[in-house]
Amino acid sequence: MNATDLDERRPIDWINSAFLVLTPLIALIGGVWYVARFGFTRYEALNLLAMFVLTSVCVTAGYHRYFSHRSYECSTPVKLFYLVFGAAAVENSVLCWASDHRRHHRFVDTPEDPYNILRGGLYAHMGWIFYKDTRDEKTRFDNVPDLLKDPLVRWQHRWYVPLVVAVTFVLPTLIGLAFGRPLGGLLFGGFLRVVLVHHTTFFINSLAHLYGERPYSLQDTARDSWWLAPLTFGEGYHNFHHKFQADYRNGLRWWQFDATKWWINALRLTGQARALKRTPESLILKARLAVEKERLALRAQQSAASDELWRRVQARLDAGSARLQAAHEAYAHAKAEYRRRRDQWTADARRQWDETVSARRAEYREALERWQATMRAMNRLSQPSAQSLLTLTAFMDIFKHRLF
Ligand SMILES: [Zn+2]
Ligand SMILES: [Zn+2]
Repeated sequence: MNATDLDERRPIDWINSAFLVLTPLIALIGGVWYVARFGFTRYEALNLLAMFVLTSVCVTAGYHRYFSHRSYECSTPVKLFYLVFGAAAVENSVLCWASDHRRHHRFVDTPEDPYNILRGGLYAHMGWIFYKDTRDEKTRFDNVPDLLKDPLVRWQHRWYVPLVVAVTFVLPTLIGLAFGRPLGGLLFGGFLRVVLVHHTTFFINSLAHLYGERPYSLQDTARDSWWLAPLTFGEGYHNFHHKFQADYRNGLRWWQFDATKWWINALRLTGQARALKRTPESLILKARLAVEKERLALRAQQSAASDELWRRVQARLDAGSARLQAAHEAYAHAKAEYRRRRDQWTADARRQWDETVSARRAEYREALERWQATMRAMNRLSQPSAQSLLTLTAFMDIFKHRLF
């Protein structure tokens, strides 16, 4: 049975379909009419922005990183906030959302992936929502037993529709009413905001599986894209996320835009979140090196290198990556040890340990530079003009410089 057969047997979900089609129409036609008739004030802008930020954070930090992946723990008030304002994203209850999302990770790029990108960008973006999920709740929720045990999650599932009405439409109208502009509140804080939240979330299922880099894993279609990150509160680093889904971060480095990570860190600093899960740096490095080696192996298959020559090169690459990982491990260990024990040491001992850390750092940097030089030399093979002579020269370069 293929994916098309699956959908042919699934009836259209008319409520979802009507909502997905009508909300943008109401936001567009109603919004243009309202602006022409009453103008657009800072009250509408603030209503739109506040509701957009609040509901988006509840989807990314709440529905996604907390409920679906359990990447940290948070207090009951924060959980309640996620459930109430998360419902206003109108992307279903946490139970349904997390169940679909866990299936997405488990069966990514296969017919059992609810938003399988191999069925096309539009299907992954929103097409899948047009069909009804006809499975009974017992079957559907068999992958969210932890959430089923949570009374607050069950409460949200039960009262999902009243919550949607109250927080998606009534609340922004009341905020608008407070400034004498209730209809503006409903159109911008309600309708336009929900359309924006929908499509920025949907981008993760479509664009983040189509465009961008794959530095951590070549096993699936998930991709990292820096330009998608600001639009999605940091969820654009999707290749990292698929490889290390338990990590509370999606943008790993401090300079990568990940507003959700910053929000979770702010919660931690104020005592509202704890037990933030971080992937050890050594595993991240290992994943990156494995991807680089895998890429080279693919290129080697297309190059003129003989099997024997390629085996020799691979042995060098394995030795190089092992050395780099060992140097990284030693540096990380020295740093951790220094942080853990520096307060107990005398000035002399501290100075000595300072030197040890510097030495480990220098060794790691040297190993990294060698690895990068090797990658540069090897990457020359990827050019279409690479002939057997160039291939050989590139390999010779590596041996000549005795990189490893
Ligand atoms: Zn994905
Ligand atoms: Zn995820």
